[in-house]
This record gives sequence, structure tokens and C-alpha cells, in this order.
Amino acid sequence: SDVTIRRALLSVSDKTGLADLGGKLAKAGVELVSTGGTARALREAGLDVLDVSELTGFPEMMDGRVKTLHPRVHGGLLAVRDDPEHAAAMEAHEIGAIDLVVVNLYPFEDTVMRGAEREEIIENIDIGGPSMVRSAAKNHRYVTIVTDPADYDELYEELAAHNGGTTEAFRIRMAAKAFARTAAYDSAIANWFAFGDAFSNPIGAEALKATPFAETLPLAFRRSDVLRYGENPHQNAAIYVPQAVGTSGIAQAEQVQGKALSYNNYNDADAALELAAEFRGGDPAVVIVKHANPCGVAQAATLREAWDAALQCDSVSAFGGIVALNRPLDGPTAEAICEIFTEVVIAPGADEAARQAFAAKKNLRLLLLGDLPDPRRAGFTMKTIAGGMLLQSRDAGAIEPADLKVVTKRKPTEQELKDCLFAWTVARHVKSNAIVYAKDGATAGIGAGQMNRRDSARIAAIKAREAAETYGWAQPLTVGSAVASDAFFPFADGLLAAAEAGATAVIQPGGSMRDEEVIAAADAAGLAMVFTGMRHFRH
Ligand code: 5GP
Repeated sequence: SDVTIRRALLSVSDKTGLADLGGKLAKAGVELVSTGGTARALREAGLDVLDVSELTGFPEMMDGRVKTLHPRVHGGLLAVRDDPEHAAAMEAHEIGAIDLVVVNLYPFEDTVMRGAEREEIIENIDIGGPSMVRSAAKNHRYVTIVTDPADYDELYEELAAHNGGTTEAFRIRMAAKAFARTAAYDSAIANWFAFGDAFSNPIGAEALKATPFAETLPLAFRRSDVLRYGENPHQNAAIYVPQAVGTSGIAQAEQVQGKALSYNNYNDADAALELAAEFRGGDPAVVIVKHANPCGVAQAATLREAWDAALQCDSVSAFGGIVALNRPLDGPTAEAICEIFTEVVIAPGADEAARQAFAAKKNLRLLLLGDLPDPRRAGFTMKTIAGGMLLQSRDAGAIEPADLKVVTKRKPTEQELKDCLFAWTVARHVKSNAIVYAKDGATAGIGAGQMNRRDSARIAAIKAREAAETYGWAQPLTVGSAVASDAFFPFADGLLAAAEAGATAVIQPGGSMRDEEVIAAADAAGLAMVFTGMRHFRH
């Protein structure tokens, strides 16, 4: 049944439309009660307001942490009015009924997103507000709760149409919205506790290992876009970002031109960007990705030269690729990219000439993101399995050149060592089993995703031979290259396949039961080999 509004409690952080609301309620003969800032704003608008401190007999205290947390407020909200015991309690304790609550909460989410300090974020966790919202919503049989300035107009219509009262249907609808709001608010807070610090503070490998995973996971995500389709056209898809957690990566990139992105585009673009980020602050680098695996990566004096070198590795696969750069896209590189069919280009920025070169390619998607993310930042990766989900800290671990252990009789030359480290950097971004040959700052052959390591070594070599035929080179680029393996060689066969392809230096984690056998094979083939002590599976 309809409930006439006689007394309203207004307490809002977002003061949009407040004066208008107060004015309309006052005109309808509603008594207004308010907290500090809200009361001030209403008085400035020339309205009569009772301070909540007068109602409770307590001042607002502790920097506003305690304002409305009082039986005179919550009793007035929660009392079942036609229950004689409740009515007696109201009378005995001088509690007056509150018929309407208009509350919006401290801006917790905005405070996190603008990068405020921890203390300020914590101060923006609203306690009294959600309590009132929940009390009023629970008691919607008598009380009307409004939590969104966008609903004020509807409230006016309701009051006008029902003689200064609200209908039960309206109160139920607003109560549902109120609980959705407090649930989302608390999820955002829980999200920040679970992930906030871990996402924003780069921490070391040891700390990552010690990352405690909450027993129950509050995962509040906000849909940021609906995608063209899923992995296949008959699947639907959308992209979500965590609420109230500052993250950086492909999900934060801005699309400045081209067709809408699909699920696969995002998945591939993510792989490309994460690898390009490895070269943050380094010489110009180009990464070409297909099906979430790099098919060409190079670093050179200019982006344009890096593009050529990356393309040479596997120009067949580069068709329809996803390209990521560590430097703003320039005109010459953009023109070169336009010569082959490319799905997506991701870069920190793009100059005018590059934008013009791309303008003619209406479908080509260009994503810009300002700074590249820190490749060593902490964070999490999630993967669903049937009936559940796997969560792990992201692979932020890395080795320093000083961590390398030479295990063969021959030490790698300076150039071999450079190529080893480049190959190693790429290999961690290739699906296991990963074998990457590199020479002079460019990949010479990439073997990805095979079910045994020897096949990856051989496939990469085959591709390198084909590239040599395509370009008319006397020999494949794998000759004289360094080779990286994302995990140890369990047998010598993979290593021998790499030696056969012409590799002269090897980088791998080591740690196999047969390390001795593998080292002996390397020595016999005259290879230089270093162990990293850290593996980078990527399944
Ligand atoms: P005002 O600007 O009126 O001083 O404060 C309004 C804000 O205070 C609203 O966002 C409301 O949710 C919040 N609020 C109301 N009562 C309490 C309380 O007892 N404790 C806290 N922490 N916040 C409150």
C-alpha cells in the first residue's frame, strides 16, 4: 500500500540535483534531516533542515566516520510500524519514523581509480551510508530508498501521482537497486583488498610465490565492451575489467580506428603487447603475433628496420597478424605494415604520417595505450576450466645476466650472449614447448606449442629454411644463431636438432635428470650453453 512521506533523511556525497530535491520535498511538507555537508548545501538553497546530530543527540565525530550510526536513525528506519512492540520501543526511546532515505555513498571507486594513497582510499570506505541504505531497503514495506540521482525524477512523479506517497512496487524496485548498489560497492572494496596493491606495486618473484589467495574471491568486473563475437562466430563475447583496481594492459588500450575487435583479436593483441612490453625503454622493437604466438620479433636502430627483420622470420605466418611496437608508430613503418594484410596494430602512440597511412585501411584496427605496461609488474592470470577457475600470479619472474651459469667448455661470445638473452625474452612469450632461434637482435625461427621439444626445434628450423628460400639467402638465419628453450631439454635430441639447424649457443633453464648427457652433447657439438635456473612454461 502507499506510504506517505513525512520525514526524509538526505545524506549524499554526489550533490547533483540535491537543492531541487530538497525544495520539492519541503514544498510537499516533508521534514528534512541531513548530515553535515548535505545540510549545509540545503541551507544554502534556503531550506530548513534538521541536523542529524540534533536528532541523535550526538555530534558527528571521528572525521565523519560516525554520523548516522545511531538507534534514532536505524530504529526510525527498521521499525515495523504496525508491530505493537516495535511501536512501544519507538515511543520509549523517542525514535521517530523516517519514511524516505536518499543516500549516495563516498566515492570509493573513483578514489581508487584516480590513484589516491592508501589512507585516502580507506577513508573513502563509507560505513554509515550503506548501513542506512540496507536498513531502509530491508524495511521497504514502509520506507522508500533512493540511491541514485538519476532516480529523483521518478520519485517526483511517484509523489505527485500518489498524493505525497510512494507505492509498494516502487519501493521494492528501489530496494532491489539499493542492494545491488551496496553489493557492488562492497565487491569493489573487496576487489581492492584482494588485488589492488598487487596490481599496482611491482613485487619480486619471492613475494609473488608468497601471494596469499583469498579463500573466497570477490570478483567484481565491469563490462567495458561487447565484442563482435567469441572465438568462433557462433559464440558471443564481451570484455570486462576489474572494478576499482588500477590495471594496465591491452584491456586499457584505446582503439582509434578500424573494425570492432573480436575475442581472438584481444587474445592475440594481449600476447603481442606483453612481448613488446619486454622491450620497454629499449631500441625500437616490432612483434608480430599469430594465434597468440609470435611469428617474428626484432629490435633494430629504427622501427622500420625492426619491422623488416621481424617479417623476414616467417612472412607466410605474418599474413593477418597482430603487430605490437615499443615505440610510437611512424609513417615509414605504417606504410610498410600496410603492404601486408594486418588485423591489429598496438603502439604507445602514432604520429600524423602514420595515422594518414592507416586512414585508407578502414578495417585495420589501431590501438594506442600511452605507456607500455611494466613487464615485471605483479598481477594475476585467470583461466577457466570446466566447472571452475585457475588463478595464478603472473609470470613476472626474470633473470639477470649475472644469474646465468655457463655449463659447457666453451663460453658464449658477447654476441652469442646477446642473442641468447633476446631469444630467451621471446621464448617466454611462446606457447610451450617453445624453441626460439635468434641472431643479431631478431628471431631466426620460432617453434611453438608442440607436444615435444625436439619437434619445436625441428619445426622452427624448417620455417627458417623456407624463409631462406623465399628471400633467396644462401643459408637460413638459424646458422650461427643462439637458441632458447623455455624449459629444460629432457633429452639431448632437441639440442642436437638445434645444433643441426646451425645454432652455436644455447640458453635454457637446466635442471633435467639428464643435464649431464645434454651438456656432453653440447660440448661434443662445440656449442656454448648457459643455464638460467628459471623456466617459463606457457600453456
Ligand atoms: P555529508 O556531505 O552530508 O557530510 O556526508 C554525506 C555522506 O556521508 C554520504 O555519502 C553518506 O553515505 C555518508 N554517511 C552518512 N552517515 C555516515 C556515517 O555514519 N559514517 C560514514 N562513514 N559515512 C556516513
